[in-house]
Formats: sequence, C-alpha cells, structure tokens
Amino acid sequence: MPLNPEQQAEIDELRATPQPTLRAVSEGMEAHLYKAYDVLDHGFIRVIDYMGDDAAITQAARVSYGKGTKSVQNDEGLIRYLMRHWHSTPFEMCEIKLHVKLPVFVARQWIRHRTANVNEYSARYSILDREFYIPSPEHLAAQSEINNQGRGAALQGAEAAQVLEILKTDSNRAYDNYEQMISEDGQAGLARELARMNLPANIYTQWYWKVDLHNLFHFLRLRADSHAQYEIRVYADAICKVVADWVPAAYAAFEDYRMGGVNLSGKGVDCLKRMLAGETVTQETSGMSKGEWREFRALLDD
Ligand SMILES: Cc1cc2nc3c(=O)[nH]c(=O)nc-3n(C[C@H](O)[C@H](O)[C@H](O)COP(=O)(O)OP(=O)(O)OC[C@H]3O[C@@H](n4cnc5c(N)ncnc54)[C@H](O)[C@@H]3O)c2cc1C
Repeated sequence: MPLNPEQQAEIDELRATPQPTLRAVSEGMEAHLYKAYDVLDHGFIRVIDYMGDDAAITQAARVSYGKGTKSVQNDEGLIRYLMRHWHSTPFEMCEIKLHVKLPVFVARQWIRHRTANVNEYSARYSILDREFYIPSPEHLAAQSEINNQGRGAALQGAEAAQVLEILKTDSNRAYDNYEQMISEDGQAGLARELARMNLPANIYTQWYWKVDLHNLFHFLRLRADSHAQYEIRVYADAICKVVADWVPAAYAAFEDYRMGGVNLSGKGVDCLKRMLAGETVTQETSGMSKGEWREFRALLDD
C-alpha cells in the first residue's frame, strides 16, 4: 500500500483546512499539494510544501540586473535568458519539499545528490514494513550486451518466472527472519538497528527531501534522462509533471535548454561547421575518438 491510513488521514485533514496567505501562490502547484502520486509498486511522491513561483525567479533576477532587464521583453524571456546563460541563483529562490517512498537501492542513487536536505525514516527507531520492490515482468530486463551500466530486452518464460520467484522468496524469507529477530515474544529481541542489516536493498524506505529549483533541475537532468536507471527515472518523471505545473516558464526553459539541448565539444562544433559547409567528415578526419564520434553521430541521427 503506497500510503498508510495515518498518512492518508493527514493529507485529508490538510486539504480540508486551507489557510489564507499573502505569500506567492502557484495555482498549478496548489492542485498537487499533499496529493500522493504512485511510483513503482509501493512507492510515491507527494509535495509537502513549496516556496516561490516563476515570478520569484524574475523578481530575484531583477535585483541583480535592475534596469538592464528592460531589454528583456517579458518574464518568460527573462527566464529563458537566465537558463541559457547558466545564471542559476534566481532559480534557487524557489524550493520544494517532497515526501518520497522508494526502494533502498533507488535511495542510494538519489542520496548522491548532496545539495538537498533529507530526513529519512528511522529503522533504528521504527519497524520497517513488509514492502519490497518486485519489478513488473516487462522491467525484468537482461544485462545489456553493449552497456555495462544498462539493461537489454526483458527476460522471458521460465527464466523470468524463476527470477521473480527468487526475488519474492528472498524478500519474504529475509523479512520473516527480521521479524523473528526483533520479536520480544519469549526472547530479549535483537535491537532494530541491528536486525535491519539482513534486509535486502529492494525494501522500501521513506524520506522528506527538500531542494531548491536549480539543484532539482540538475537532479532531473540526470535522473529523468533516458539513460538513467528505470527505477529512479520513474520518480524523476513524476516530479517533472509536478514541476511543470509549479513553475511552467522555468520548466519549459529547462526542457528546451537542458533536456532537449546538447553539449558539444570544440571538436564537435568544428565538425558541425565543416559538415554544414558540405564536407564529408568521418571519424578518422573528425579528430574524435571512436566513442566520441559514435555519440556525436547519435546526436545528429536521432
Ligand atoms: C548515469 C549515472 C551513472 C552514475 N554512476 C556512478 C557510479 O558508477 N559510481 C558513483 O559513485 N556514482 C555514480 N553516479 C553518481 C554521480 O557521480 C553523482 O554523484 C550524482 O549524479 C550526483 O551529482 P552531483 O554531485 O552533480 O549532484 P549534487 O551532489 O547535488 O551536487 C550538485 C553540484 O554541486 C557541486 N558540489 C556539491 N557538493 C560538492 C562538493 N563536496 N565538492 C565540490 N562540489 C560540490 C558540484 O558542482 C555538483 O555538480 C552516477 C550518476 C549518473 C547520473
């Protein structure tokens, strides 16, 4: 169950008691506030709080540019200008606080993003629920033959069934042993902080995650990318939908310049110019390594 009854009751109460405020409000974000969006088999994201909107970004930018911003026609143009020129601090004026429920192996990738504030569910203090991520069959993929960090086609037939069975059996056996070790029924009961060590990385954890918009965009750029692992990408995709409604102009600029744009090396720019001038450029004449050339061609051929 993604949300437990206490969490659902808290959400219902918060949504039933709106407060008048003089603070800037994003109508798009108000619609998402407190709502939980399911991710994977037991996970979710929900917005707990936020600060700022598109106007907060331009307001901050105008402090630094003053009259200079008169040359920029409107807020959307100014936001695109800021994004294009990596003037990132105005985006830090907006913040979001999320409640996220996610498998531990996803949390381990996520926590690498250090520029956020995190408060995680304590498995020293509380007992973890019997909730494990078990991939749906179409995501039970084989090891990629061309990318050590990727996956290939979905496993089929008996092999898929066997892998699913192993995942379920191991998860349940580990949890049965966890329960047995912490039980105080006729025994002292092992400390929770120790008993958790036998639990597998597909068990779910939860945290509050607060981050500013600039660093959130950095996270989304890496984790909503098609090369990111599926299990973290689905969280990033769910967050993208919320952010698109929260700060529509900033998100549109992010999509255009960061998600849709590409970085070219000096050699890449040189090759592009030569190609546009009609020259047939090959890997041998490009000055690039085979890997660089493959990635460069993929950009042009996509
Ligand atoms: C596809 C992919 C594969 C990956 N594979 C691996 C892997 O195999 N092994 C592995 O260990 N990690 C791996 N990572 C994690 C990666 O190396 C980063 O740790 C992660 O993406 C977080 O990025 P970040 O440090 O830029 O983000 P944040 O921690 O949010 O930092 C944002 C920016 O702040 C600055 N910053 C933050 N803290 C510091 C600091 N202490 N010192 C200097 N500057 C700082 C940096 O400019 C940084 O880019 C992978 C990530 C991706 C997306």
